[in-house]
Amino acid sequence: MDNLPPSTEPAPGQKLEVKCDVTVIGGGLAGKAASLQLARAGLNVTCIEPAEVIRQPVGESLDWSAPELLSALGLPMDDLISAQMATWKRHVTVKLRDGTSEQYVPSAWLAGAPFHLELRTLHVDRLRLDPELLKMMIAGGVTLVRDKVVGIERNGSNGRNISSVRTAGGARFSSPWFIDASGFATCLLAREFNLPAIHSGPAKVAMWNYFPVSVSPPGTTLYMDPMPSEYLEWIWEIPVSPNMVSVGYIATGAAIKAKRDRGSSVEEIFRQQLMKFPRFEPLLREEVLNPTNVTSFRSRVQIGVAGPNWLIAGEAAAMVDPITANGVTAALRHAAEASNLILKYRSRGTLPLSARAAYSSRILQMAKFFNGGIEKIVYEPPVRNRIGATTAGTLYTSPAWSMNVLYARTKPRGVVATFLFGLLLGAFRVSAWILYQFCKRLTPEPAAPV
Ligand SMILES: Cc1cc2nc3c(=O)[nH]c(=O)nc-3n(C[C@H](O)[C@H](O)[C@H](O)COP(=O)(O)OP(=O)(O)OC[C@H]3O[C@@H](n4cnc5c(N)ncnc54)[C@H](O)[C@@H]3O)c2cc1C
Repeated sequence: MDNLPPSTEPAPGQKLEVKCDVTVIGGGLAGKAASLQLARAGLNVTCIEPAEVIRQPVGESLDWSAPELLSALGLPMDDLISAQMATWKRHVTVKLRDGTSEQYVPSAWLAGAPFHLELRTLHVDRLRLDPELLKMMIAGGVTLVRDKVVGIERNGSNGRNISSVRTAGGARFSSPWFIDASGFATCLLAREFNLPAIHSGPAKVAMWNYFPVSVSPPGTTLYMDPMPSEYLEWIWEIPVSPNMVSVGYIATGAAIKAKRDRGSSVEEIFRQQLMKFPRFEPLLREEVLNPTNVTSFRSRVQIGVAGPNWLIAGEAAAMVDPITANGVTAALRHAAEASNLILKYRSRGTLPLSARAAYSSRILQMAKFFNGGIEKIVYEPPVRNRIGATTAGTLYTSPAWSMNVLYARTKPRGVVATFLFGLLLGAFRVSAWILYQFCKRLTPEPAAPV
């Protein structure tokens, strides 16, 4: 993020006291989107983002609901394509090591009456998209502060109200409203308020890098070598620009630790995994531009992500597993909903309990649906062993895509709509659980060693 525009920073020894309408903690995708929307609505917004990068921007293969959200920010698909910030995502292909492959693409009839669904979506080059969004945010009047929030000051009878945040640079930012978009690693308000969380699956590690190619493939490809008794590992190939692909490997933290304990470096592990698929041999012969990126994460969702004058958005609220390609949609959706709630209840000064409960419930139900479904149907062996990895992919993809579309279409907001949508998501979760238990019982126990 070397090209960050100038920002407010306290001079050495100077204590900076800033008052504004909304303080946004974190300038990742969720923070930038929320800041921009609030500033456009006329609010005085401060977005606090550290100068040093905590994690390289990632999240390049977009779900079919993301383009509409980007367009609402002023980034329509055609503009992103012509500015070479994105490529078309025509399909998702799963390729197994044994040569089997399956292509997932929404049926063409959905584009016609009465559905009129947008069947196109994108891969985005985050190293170009994020700075562009940042420029738009600054141009929209947001004050960007390059600093790191290190403390929260609370008031109100029960201590649930936030009055200000303090930064490492010694500044204090006071405002009637706060949005925490500090990402998975920081989760500032969830830690501050000790919010409970629901975890799905084990801790995982992602390694990724970028390779030049003469022609980018027209879709996202997921490479897998599913082992009948093991949790799934996979590799992504995402064409982020016409001549560049992002390639990443995801495995459990335990599997990576075992490899590291045997003396393998990150680069060696990454290379070994890619060499399993002939597609990557020519890419690995090319010189990569930068060291391989590494991050660890665990899919989870926080409970109670809204307070009287604060909301949590993006990965700080819910970490959705990357294989679902739903993180960007979720981050942009949270940002839009959190901003709208602040605008709606601004004059009241506080969010009503019903609005807090509905916002938190939507984030909880959607994250549980995506994370629970992918764990039970694709990552864990029982279902994919029984029906095959590619059929498991279809079984997961169809409801996941439909629920996202339905969410985008119906826009559940109030308590009743949120409750009904939650029931529908719950029904799918229960079905996945029943299928999982059924397949698990049918799977013979491995023979005891003699
Ligand atoms: C390996 C991987 C692959 C993924 N692939 C996909 C994909 O293909 N498709 C998809 O849709 N999604 C994907 N995702 C998810 C997607 O990247 C995220 O959901 C999305 O970028 C969320 O952005 P965010 O703004 O919530 O978080 P972040 O991008 O993490 O932003 C948080 C920001 O907060 C800042 N911050 C942190 N602490 C502080 C502090 N104390 N004070 C101030 N600022 C702070 C950070 O510097 C950062 O800029 C992937 C995620 C991972 C981990």
